[in-house]
Amino acid sequence: MNFFKCTACGGCCSGDGSVFLYPDDVKNLAENFSLTVQEFVDKYTDFVILESCEEGESYSYLPYIVMKKKKNACVFLKNKKCSIHDFKPFQCKNTPFVSEFFTDEEWRKFLMKNCPALMKLKEEDLEQYRPLAQVSDEKNKEYELLLRRNSYSLEKILEVTLPEPKIIPVS
Ligand code: SF4
Ligand code: SF4
Repeated sequence: MNFFKCTACGGCCSGDGSVFLYPDDVKNLAENFSLTVQEFVDKYTDFVILESCEEGESYSYLPYIVMKKKKNACVFLKNKKCSIHDFKPFQCKNTPFVSEFFTDEEWRKFLMKNCPALMKLKEEDLEQYRPLAQVSDEKNKEYELLLRRNSYSLEKILEVTLPEPKIIPVS
């Protein structure tokens, strides 16, 4: 059996995707930069709302803090390496084995063609990483529960002031 060995090529740190930060990521990152949560949020993140439409009927809106980008890459990518490797956020630690890896066939195929570490694995090698994706799934559920309990207000959860969000439609 082969194992996933990230080559740290930086490929998944640039392009169209975004790094979604959970509230504990935001707090950890702020602490590691010796910044207040407000200072960290202002300097390094954007505020977005994902708008999704289920079966062409009801719309849902979920707020997220995402890492800022510079020249279409994460603001912390320096010389093709992660400059915050020791304290990078949950999504980065778990990439590519986040919840969608085993549920979104199209996205998985895209990753298998573009991530040099995944290219070395066979289908049967991937199953061992399903528990990691499940952890990511649980984390998403916890996040949605936290939002529900706090009237979907990230300002309330993080005790910060946020700018007007950018609304991003997702299919
Ligand atoms: S694309 Fe794959 S090999 Fe490159 S940094 Fe991302 S996870 Fe690692
Ligand atoms: S925090 Fe690091 S690993 Fe995550 S996207 Fe940015 S540069 Fe890449």
